[in-house]
Amino acid sequence: MKQGEFIGLEDQFGAHNYKPLDVVLSRGKGVWVWDVDGNKYLDCLAAYSAVNQGHCHPKIMQAMVTQAEKLTLTSRAFRNDQLGPFYKDLCELTNSHKVLPMNSGAEAVETAIKIVRKWGYTVKGVPKDQAEIIVCANNFHGRTISIVSFSTDENARAGFGPFTPGFKCIPFGDAAALEAAITANTVAFLVEPIQGEAGVIIPPEGYLKKAREICDRHNIALILDEIQTGLGRTGKMLAEEYEGIEADLTIIGKALSGGFYPVSAVLSNTEVMNVLQPGEHGSTFGGNPLACAVARAALQVLFDEKMIENSYQQGKYFLNELEKISHPHIKEVRGRGLMLAIEFHPEVGGARAYCNKLKGHGILAKDTHENIVRFAPPLVIQRDEVDMILDAINEVLPH
Ligand SMILES: *Cc1c(COP(=O)(O)O)cnc(C)c1O
Repeated sequence: MKQGEFIGLEDQFGAHNYKPLDVVLSRGKGVWVWDVDGNKYLDCLAAYSAVNQGHCHPKIMQAMVTQAEKLTLTSRAFRNDQLGPFYKDLCELTNSHKVLPMNSGAEAVETAIKIVRKWGYTVKGVPKDQAEIIVCANNFHGRTISIVSFSTDENARAGFGPFTPGFKCIPFGDAAALEAAITANTVAFLVEPIQGEAGVIIPPEGYLKKAREICDRHNIALILDEIQTGLGRTGKMLAEEYEGIEADLTIIGKALSGGFYPVSAVLSNTEVMNVLQPGEHGSTFGGNPLACAVARAALQVLFDEKMIENSYQQGKYFLNELEKISHPHIKEVRGRGLMLAIEFHPEVGGARAYCNKLKGHGILAKDTHENIVRFAPPLVIQRDEVDMILDAINEVLPH
């Protein structure tokens, strides 16, 4: 079949809830993907950072096949021999005390919200149904009704009400606004260390540290959504390490399985996680043996193959080179580790057209908003491949 026929099938039989670039991929290896016509592209999105370890990593694949032949799902009604070792690995690698495994990122965010609400009522003493959670403008935490209830993106919300109450929105990067928004009923502050979908928005230095200090002073749980920033993307295991803090709850997903399988988790200190009692929360697939085996391998290769250091080094070089580009259309370039973006002046816009031109040069990147292009390749990328991206970026800028 031709690319056009695959696209036709999607259009005819699928819901139109995405507007992808018109490239039909059928194979991937490392940073590279191939379309059905055999054209090769360098993947600069890495499935929104779910493929940090590179496409079809052989060790993760082997773990998946080996486990799939033995046992895939027990539900949590019974125990399995993969869950305990997965918990231990994850806690040791992230300095956490407790893990609650789920599947998608949005489910893990929902889980964190439930945990802090319960903690607010049973530990902090907030009156019934009065718990408030503070969130940031331009956040992205997923697509469920409760999560879009506190989105500020009209596209994500319009037509989906009525919404879940109990959320208060403040500007991102503004610690004073956080302190001002707190009431006796505030149970948590939920924030992305770097706002990914908003266009790789990096807060002022010291912001998370101040947020940590404010949350401590007011007895509020700090929840970091590291679904995109976590697992090496920003050049550290977790982005919180840049500010030397620890969240009460850290949400991870995406690269936790290296792109093989949906696996997410809420990491917690002991006090907050301990509010959950048997029967109060769960998921049929959450913590299943296949997911645990895949996730353990996905974590292992991040360290064994020094992908986190590579993310730091290549990201530093990438940003440095981006900063050398001087072009009237570019408003700003920014990044941390391998999470980078070019922002064009709003009146120029054209991020989608720019991505389509990059595609013509063998680079797959995704626009976010009308004027921002994100670059987030797999963390296994090498210097010469970063140079290929930079060459393409330069070539497709209008001359
Ligand atoms: C992708 C993402 C989510 C949602 O994850 P899903 O697996 O798509 O539900 C939540 N938060 C952040 C920061 C993300 O990047």
